[in-house]
Amino acid sequence: MASDGPTDGFETRAIHVGQDPEAVTGAVITPIFQTSTYAQAAPGEHTGYEYSRTDNPTRTALQQALASLEGAAHGFAFASGMAAEDTVLRSLQAGDHIVLGNDAYGGTFRLISQVTSRAGVKWSAADLTDPDVLDATWNPATRVVWMETPTNPLLTVFDIERLAEVTHRHGAKLVVDNTFATPYLQQPLALGADLVVHSTTKYIGGHSDVVGGFVATDDDEWAADIKFLQNAVGAVPGPLDCFLTLRGLKTLGVRMDRHVENATRIVELLVGHPRVGQVFYPCLEGHPGHDVASRQMRAGGGMVSFRVRGGADAAKAVTTRTRLFTLAESLGGIESLIEHPAVMTHASAAGSPLEVPDDLVRLSVGIETGTDLVEDLRQALS
Ligand code: PLP
Repeated sequence: MASDGPTDGFETRAIHVGQDPEAVTGAVITPIFQTSTYAQAAPGEHTGYEYSRTDNPTRTALQQALASLEGAAHGFAFASGMAAEDTVLRSLQAGDHIVLGNDAYGGTFRLISQVTSRAGVKWSAADLTDPDVLDATWNPATRVVWMETPTNPLLTVFDIERLAEVTHRHGAKLVVDNTFATPYLQQPLALGADLVVHSTTKYIGGHSDVVGGFVATDDDEWAADIKFLQNAVGAVPGPLDCFLTLRGLKTLGVRMDRHVENATRIVELLVGHPRVGQVFYPCLEGHPGHDVASRQMRAGGGMVSFRVRGGADAAKAVTTRTRLFTLAESLGGIESLIEHPAVMTHASAAGSPLEVPDDLVRLSVGIETGTDLVEDLRQALS
């Protein structure tokens, strides 16, 4: 095996775990095994691969590599972040209760409140910035606390270690959506979380050319159920999507360093700018989650949100005046994006406890030349 995993560094594992040269031809890069089925020597006698919904070698390589980066014993790839979340949520039963952190991706809120709820699973939103409040208001039916940190779009930071301690004391499990931070900047399982979910569409794929999701866990029992559900429900990614995601994964570390460098420059422009109100960035001095972020994250990441003085129309106007930041949903790609969450990514949270301010602008700061990005935003704000 090219890498034994745990003892190698992050970048080495990203490039080598699960990615030995292919056995028949020696192909150095894991091929796209574009097949739905596999020949069997006798009925039930196969190489470990029988049908591509159940297992596919390109998917196996991705699952092993990304599980290693999260420090997890088990990893499962899905057709989208929502498919990954849905599969995890299907392990709950009627009467179970979910606590959802009160700032989260609108699609997660929609899934839990409008789809998972159909199976009789209850939910409520909670401000998880104070773990003592969660402790004091604990609902005995709660099986899962589900949170993003940093959150989408307000970049709120929740203390994974403290929340894991409270959640476990009550016999429940903590799920962390690690999409914004990525395993390069934050390792939720090492901090006590039970399960990590990802939209690999974002930083892990990294090139805005593939949609995918991922689940990583050390919990053997939960992993067995998710493996069962992955096959039984079948929300799996195709081999080409796994290949693209794996190719993106190899450069995650170097890309994240540049995302952070550019985001830091953008934050410097925004703080104190006369047209800008509050600036949200986890490692910004004065951000309420600054101390926790400094403890649990390597750096603040590539996402920056800010409120525009003048309200919703002023915020929308900024999003249409940039030259390099493209007005579009999604995030985490090499190119910079700008969006207006209240109308775009978080429209489904309108009127709910997860509603976002309408003067908010969210940036996904890409890896272009930093000074070009700063100048672009400066002219859009002027
Ligand atoms: N989690 C977070 C934090 C997200 O931002 C998103 C999408 O934006 C998702 C999950 C859903 O992922 P996907 O769009 O790949 O289904």
